[in-house]
Amino acid sequence: MNILLIGSGGREHALAWKMAASPLLTKLWCAPGNAGIAQDAECVALDVANHAAVIDFCKMNKVDLVVVGPEAPLAAGIVDDLAAAGIKAFGPSKAASQLESSKGFTKDICKANNIPTAAYERFRDADAAKAYIRKQGAPIVVKADGLAAGKGVVVAMTLAEAEAAVDALFTAAGAEAVVEEFMEGEEASFFVLCDGDNALPLAAAQDHKRAFDGDKGPNTGGMGAYSPAPVFTDAVRERTMSEIILPTLRAMKAMGMPYKGVLFAGLMITRDGPKLIEYNARFGDPETQVLMIRLMSDLVPALLASVEGELKHFDLRWYPEPALTVVMAAKGYPGDYAKGTVIEGLGDAAKIEGVEIFHAGTKAAGDKILANGGRVLNVTATAGTVSEAQRRAYEAIDRIRWPEGFCRRDIGWQAVAREQKS
Ligand code: AMP
Repeated sequence: MNILLIGSGGREHALAWKMAASPLLTKLWCAPGNAGIAQDAECVALDVANHAAVIDFCKMNKVDLVVVGPEAPLAAGIVDDLAAAGIKAFGPSKAASQLESSKGFTKDICKANNIPTAAYERFRDADAAKAYIRKQGAPIVVKADGLAAGKGVVVAMTLAEAEAAVDALFTAAGAEAVVEEFMEGEEASFFVLCDGDNALPLAAAQDHKRAFDGDKGPNTGGMGAYSPAPVFTDAVRERTMSEIILPTLRAMKAMGMPYKGVLFAGLMITRDGPKLIEYNARFGDPETQVLMIRLMSDLVPALLASVEGELKHFDLRWYPEPALTVVMAAKGYPGDYAKGTVIEGLGDAAKIEGVEIFHAGTKAAGDKILANGGRVLNVTATAGTVSEAQRRAYEAIDRIRWPEGFCRRDIGWQAVAREQKS
């Protein structure tokens, strides 16, 4: 099979690495890719916003399957345009990807189908939002409706904070806010493959969104993750499937927008059971890095089965060992940071047992690897325990020479604490 992967992050490197191992693969391209992906795929400088150009590329190169990594091309309807041109594409349609691109859309589906989630209201003006906030009291959560790269959410501990978040949000024209109840519990990310009717559970992971140790500092796209998530027990998974995932698939189908692709449920595991925080319409980054390391089966037939509506009797096998990934980012991220700094020692780092290094924002310049983004590397390790995977990941990181980079030193702390207790 010829496959074109779209994206350039650590998620796409992990997907490329896994697909490159498939016996079904003839040729893998990635648009635009990065320096690490170039080891597993041929990177091509395609403008993925130009769907006609992507379709031409697929026809010229006899591409059998397009795998879309990030959310923006999905929300732009790339899967619809490829399908209309007769090209198989993994991922939801533009309409179905609203599960991620519109929080209000998702909340309305939850309300109509009794899917457990935080109570909420949608607002188009600041005064009404503030009146609701004063009525509900703090803590309370204020969200922008629309894609915000994980940065459009304020968990306000006080009324003043919540009102300031509303003011900040309504400075943009056409803004819409979702104000919702604060949920208490432990978070988990759960991934399922969908084919419009059926859902095949993948695995769960936990990530660290804050920039600094101790879960402090600004929110980021994710500074590290590990899988499995100890809080996501078999019982929680069954409830999540029957109370959240399957009702969502039925609702999407009934509305004429069947959901295909990977559905990523951000969950709060509360005292009353799992509740939906949000959906994403794509694989998580950096969760995919730990999922792909743990996946024993071939990924390619599963992606195809999602596109072709054949997931019903599908099964995937997983390695039971945990995996953990630490993001190395450019100093300053998620704010301003420098590009073009030199990273050395990657070869030495990759020699540590159980370690795989996935690239995110990197670029090759001759034989040098340069930083080319905010999140730059995902140092991923697997071992018999989370503690040992964590030790291996940091041992590898200590071999990487990149003074302009930083990482958190406590990725996996909840799982490590659990292991130390037991
Ligand atoms: P989201 O972009 O919706 O995933 O929100 C980002 C983060 O904000 C989540 O990972 C949670 O940590 C937090 N969060 C969002 N909604 C809530 C809520 N209703 N209650 C508590 N925390 C929340």
